[in-house]
Amino acid sequence: MASVKENLEKVRERLARAARRAGRSPEDVLLVAVSKTVPVERIREGVAAGLTVLGENRVQEAKEKIQALGRVAVSWHLVGHLQTNKVKDALALFDLIHSLDRLSLAEELDRRAQAARGRADVLVQVNVAEEASKGGFSPEELRPALETLSRLSGLRVRGLMAIPPEPQELEDSRPHFKTMRTLFESARAWRLPGLELEALSMGMSADFEVAIEEGATIVRVGTAIFGPRPA
Ligand SMILES: *Cc1c(COP(=O)(O)O)cnc(C)c1O
Repeated sequence: MASVKENLEKVRERLARAARRAGRSPEDVLLVAVSKTVPVERIREGVAAGLTVLGENRVQEAKEKIQALGRVAVSWHLVGHLQTNKVKDALALFDLIHSLDRLSLAEELDRRAQAARGRADVLVQVNVAEEASKGGFSPEELRPALETLSRLSGLRVRGLMAIPPEPQELEDSRPHFKTMRTLFESARAWRLPGLELEALSMGMSADFEVAIEEGATIVRVGTAIFGPRPA
């Protein structure tokens, strides 16, 4: 298996080239290294190679890894579905929750964050292709959802996130990313009070370059950095 360092160098080069193709600066795209199922030793290699943001999709797994690794110069993002009964732990562990996918979760995050006299930084997940198997707000639900979220003072809504259908070919994701970009720009133009919409989280190992060309400000890359996950 290639070293994390070598993989990371390649991913950074690809990220930079995609940004430049789109007339953007590579520094404007945040690379979240998705380390779910990756052993702590290999994550440590990644941190030594310069990773600064790690993404996990399970609260319990993240908790164990954070305990094992310490908080050394790394911030942690939650990219997977969050159960309401794990909200308290999630707030203690993660700097950004990408997967705000329902109003009941928003209410619990708001309640817990206010109780701790803080604010929860979240991205609103959009079910861009309206897949039955995926959570998130449909494009039509987005505006009423954001209006509701803008009234929850324990939340700081930082942007939108999407997980389009797994692409069969490289270009398959592009129309979904374009839809997200349009939604993101519309949402910013609504100027709802209390929202700080600046991040668009989209693109994974198979399609992060396309996502950057279409305006992603955060890409979530696992396999291309850490290698294939166990099936
Ligand atoms: C696993 C995962 C990723 C990373 O997927 P790769 O294909 O390994 O890059 C990104 N986002 C979410 C939400 C994930 O669950």
